[in-house]
Amino acid sequence: MKNEKSENILNKKEENMSYYVPKKNEFQIDAQKENMWNNSKGLVEKITREGWQKYICGLGELAKRLFEEKKKNEILCMDEGLSSVGDEVTGCVGSAGSGILLTKSTGEYLTEEELANYYLGIGLDKIDSFSAHANCGAAKKRFGGTQEESDQKAKKFLQTVAETVNKTFRYHKELTRPEEFHIAVVGYYIGTEDFNLKELVGKNKLPEGFRISRRYFDKLSGKADAKLAVEIALNHGFCNKFSKENPFVLVAVADPDNAEFSLEKMKEELEEVVKKFSDKVRVDGFTAPSKK
Ligand SMILES: [Zn+2]
Repeated sequence: MKNEKSENILNKKEENMSYYVPKKNEFQIDAQKENMWNNSKGLVEKITREGWQKYICGLGELAKRLFEEKKKNEILCMDEGLSSVGDEVTGCVGSAGSGILLTKSTGEYLTEEELANYYLGIGLDKIDSFSAHANCGAAKKRFGGTQEESDQKAKKFLQTVAETVNKTFRYHKELTRPEEFHIAVVGYYIGTEDFNLKELVGKNKLPEGFRISRRYFDKLSGKADAKLAVEIALNHGFCNKFSKENPFVLVAVADPDNAEFSLEKMKEELEEVVKKFSDKVRVDGFTAPSKK
């Protein structure tokens, strides 16, 4: 069934957004990047010093909200610019481009129908909606062309996936990061069913980071997303600002109630990813509070 309602709203919104926005020049972008880097690195340093486990436990009630169970989820991109997505009832499941980079064993990308079938396998009761977003690196990787062209293709692709399984579709035009660069200093590699970033990111409680919902995908695609997260951070993010002293950190979020997603296993997967990179990238992690 075609979701005409959401498409109509979308078109109206886009028409209204044709006002002129002056583009930032290179110097303005560099200054903004410098500023955002200086603002963000203190928190990661503090958490690393204290240790992720101790830090998360110290958050008390806030940590509980971080892992609070949501009945339904929006399938979205792992982009850190979507950290404010989610609400009281709906959580988020993140992967590169909402899954458009998932491949078959032959290495070919999944078609719309195959991706819809993949999500049927996760269980539709867990899915509330699908989304795509502006300036998506995964879209560019899969479809090529200009950013705008690939964004449009990813939007159409994921809209078809949503329609195939009769779910709503959303397009995020606004991101919580500058459109010119990425601000993620970590990548969350999530083994828990729920991880509500919105509760803590942007409030100086958790660093900006990619949302890789490993729990809902297999090891191969989880690791591919983690690798892509590092590449984006090093090439389209804070780039050379990362160093041995201030590394990009892949953070394993382990589930104490499921041995398949233990801290040891999750960190082991990330270590395999990290060894391809220099010491600008590091693995860390913690185990979520038990729900039993
Ligand atoms: Zn994206």
